[in-house]
Amino acid sequence: MTDLDTVERLEWDTPLFRTALAQFEEALPHAGITDATAERLRFPERAVMLSVPVLMDGGVLRIFPGYRVQHSTVLGPTKGGIRYDQEVTLGECAALAVWMTWKCALLRLPYGGAKGGVRCNPRELSASELQRITRRYTAELAPFIGPREDIPAPDMATNEQTMAWLMDTYSMQKGYAVPEVTTGKPISIGGSVFRPEATGAGVVMVTDRACRKLGLPLGEQRCVVQGFGNVGGVAARELEERGATVLAVSDVSGGVYASGGLDLAAVRAWAAEHGVLEGYPGADFVTNAELLELPCDVLVLAAREDQVTAENAGRLDCRIVAEGANGPTTIEADRILADRGIVVLPDVLTNAGGVTVSYFEWVQDLGRLFWGRDEIRFKLEEMLGDAFDRVWELHREEGMSLRGGALVAAIREVAGALEMRGIYP
Ligand code: NAD
Repeated sequence: MTDLDTVERLEWDTPLFRTALAQFEEALPHAGITDATAERLRFPERAVMLSVPVLMDGGVLRIFPGYRVQHSTVLGPTKGGIRYDQEVTLGECAALAVWMTWKCALLRLPYGGAKGGVRCNPRELSASELQRITRRYTAELAPFIGPREDIPAPDMATNEQTMAWLMDTYSMQKGYAVPEVTTGKPISIGGSVFRPEATGAGVVMVTDRACRKLGLPLGEQRCVVQGFGNVGGVAARELEERGATVLAVSDVSGGVYASGGLDLAAVRAWAAEHGVLEGYPGADFVTNAELLELPCDVLVLAAREDQVTAENAGRLDCRIVAEGANGPTTIEADRILADRGIVVLPDVLTNAGGVTVSYFEWVQDLGRLFWGRDEIRFKLEEMLGDAFDRVWELHREEGMSLRGGALVAAIREVAGALEMRGIYP
């Protein structure tokens, strides 16, 4: 058996990958799987590194590092987002790919996990530069992605437009339209209704279910949301629609806070006009660090990884942490929150709405038959509810944290399939 040293000496070794691995090791004793199966699952199956050449608007050539990591193909093709961010590394993609494997397995979707990205500062790039990055990145990855191989989706700083360029580039290589190569596309080219809202809405569906179990009606909760993008922006709106009070929201520029509740429509209008929340006149300004420590009932983390750490976990002043982002809580912080009795709704469950509706989109594209919004919303709530209940049962019956329960349930799904398939040859 490979010791941890070997895993840690491999190219994807980074603090975030160690977090993903440490969570896996913590869950293993409860999962009851063989050593050989556990060993296989510690390693991504494939990691692709690219140098993406792009002619910038001024005519200068720049090379951007690009990555795609596929963790497991045991249950089907791999699935996972593409992010454009300055922090993107092979190790970050590997950790996020591992989490995608658990997320898909927990939701019983026929996928394994993948993640990719380009290291760049999207805020400094023009639309045409972003288009050229996307098209070249897709062309370089064409041998490794596809409807039956690996199906990308949006993540940080990528969106419907990015997926449309990706789908077009892939389709041009094939000679015919292949909408099922990606999800999170515009509806006009085979996207699914409700996909843009699915992750944020799913965060609130899971939070609502947890609140019911805990005897805390969601409509009476005071909420703080970090991140005001695809996930956080929708989560804030859905919380408000279910009667909760949203006290504060933030983006990369900082947060806005009103102790009596924000006027979210006005905040949204400001962000749409100015690009950032900074300068919004209708509330107090707080830093992102201050925002996390505001007194509230539900803290939704919907920005990025490593936000709640050993340093600030002792000062969080909430009852529930809902992880809309991937990996926002470090292992040490997780322990501190557990000791303090703060319930953490883990990312692999809480933000799984996105990949679940991505699965619906892929199925609709493959069948060329499209469903309505109510049907999709209903199916999503049902699947998240079923996964939540399985996790809750493990938590109640085996005394695990909700993260532990989610990982154990997911690991058992993947391991069961891997043990039946065996190791080739
Ligand atoms: P996004 O780019 O639409 O939004 C990210 C938000 O976080 C923005 O408001 C940005 O300003 C803010 N932000 C960035 N850095 C920050 C920082 N250091 N402090 C505070 N705020 C910061 O991205 P998204 O799609 O909403 O993704 C957010 C998180 O959710 C990521 O961790 C992503 O992996 C995860 N996620 C997204 C989806 C999806 O369907 N989009 C699905 C599952 C998980």
